[in-house]
Amino acid sequence: MLSKCANPTCSAGFRYLRQGRIFNLEVSPICPNGDVQVSHKIEHFWLCDSCAGVMEVVWENGVVSTQPLRAARAKAKSDPKVLAMGASS
Ligand SMILES: [Zn+2]
Repeated sequence: MLSKCANPTCSAGFRYLRQGRIFNLEVSPICPNGDVQVSHKIEHFWLCDSCAGVMEVVWENGVVSTQPLRAARAKAKSDPKVLAMGASS
């Protein structure tokens, strides 16, 4: 949920949409038996202003984690699509 910053080491609370950055990650549930899941769902994560400047939220190997911006960009080709929503609206 969007109750606080997605960075586990940051305790900033979510207050205003225009602050920080919202990440809409399309997550694919991984079945233990290897079946391909057809249903995808969108999970929403929020980074506070200071964290959004240095990291982003990614979905990788079935878990959500935060990565430094530079590393996340370098891996963008192999990672699932990350839809970042602008906070201007
Ligand atoms: Zn933060």
